[in-house]
Amino acid sequence: MSNDLGPSFANAVNLNLTPVQAQETAPGTSDDAVHDVVIVGSGPAGYTAAIYAARADLKPIVIAGSVTAGGELMNTTDVENYPGFIEGIMGPDLMTNMQQQAERFGADIRFEDVTSLELDGEIKTVTVEDGTVLRTRSVIMSTGSAYRKLGLPNEERLSGHGVSWCATCDGFFFKEQNIAVVGGGDSAIEEATFLTKFASKVTLIHRRDSFRASEIMQQRAFDDPKIEILWNKQVTDIHGESKVESLTLEDTVTGETSQLDITGLFVAIGSDPRVDLVKDQLELTVDGTIAVDGRSSTTSIPGVFAAGDVLDATYRQAITAAGSGCVAAIDVEHYLAALDS
Ligand code: NAP
Repeated sequence: MSNDLGPSFANAVNLNLTPVQAQETAPGTSDDAVHDVVIVGSGPAGYTAAIYAARADLKPIVIAGSVTAGGELMNTTDVENYPGFIEGIMGPDLMTNMQQQAERFGADIRFEDVTSLELDGEIKTVTVEDGTVLRTRSVIMSTGSAYRKLGLPNEERLSGHGVSWCATCDGFFFKEQNIAVVGGGDSAIEEATFLTKFASKVTLIHRRDSFRASEIMQQRAFDDPKIEILWNKQVTDIHGESKVESLTLEDTVTGETSQLDITGLFVAIGSDPRVDLVKDQLELTVDGTIAVDGRSSTTSIPGVFAAGDVLDATYRQAITAAGSGCVAAIDVEHYLAALDS
């Protein structure tokens, strides 16, 4: 461990590298143990919090999610901007590395979903889908964000029948087809570029006349001969009986409507923080993220901390989520130390 993380870091975490074993709770049971910290969610924020908390000997339990474990990076291809990987790294590999790094220090990672949380009071309870009730002195919420939907009536019905939110999961099914991606951010361009490996043509539909995506990503879209960009267009309907056949588009400037024949629609219009479990207990911001105090991870309830996309409406990068997980683990350590003093 380098010293350039500063003295506050060195004071905050136990630098002992000996792996620790988390205290096990049998599935489907409650135990008398009061754990130090339970981490809910497992993207870069949750796993980084687990690495720091485990190295601080807090024996973290991570409820990683049954199908969402690893978070959005599990659906990503090359991650080129995570520092330390000169040639980039595949999203799932990065998450597996973080998981294993946390486990190396004794984090107890469980691939289940949390069904409810009771956050008030000094001892909080975390109920897991198999019925296990964990009691804990602190909780880190790192539940990330969920794909945003267009909100069109046929979107759900045709989900899995041509409508998708994940190019890396479903792109293979659209070989030599004419498909569309909607959105103007980095995700939309990443999806569109990736899909050109399979599709014969990808139409990128954006509701304005300029992209929100970073310059380098925009240039990739402009340079790709298989990508056609439709500016100022909003998808207003998706057609098809058993699978997607076409879209109705509305021009956001003139109001004119048009039809676009395609067999697949990838929706990449951002994501919303996953706060369902806590929205009635924790204060939220106007953006719907968990409100925290300044640069800390401290939420409106003592002993409850937040990390990653669930508190971040602005940056939402793997590296900022990881940094935020580190902050949360250090805040937990300070909080527990204060309780014990
Ligand atoms: P985003 O940056 O919020 O972009 C969402 C895009 O969808 C915007 O262009 C927005 O249009 C459009 N949109 C939103 N709601 C819409 C609707 N109802 N109908 C039509 N269009 C709609 O989300 P993101 O692209 O998922 O990116 C999220 C974060 O992850 C960003 O910080 C991004 O940099 C990062 N990211 C990075 C990479 C990478 O570096 N490789 C890859 C993916 C994501 P407007 O522009 O008009 O608002």
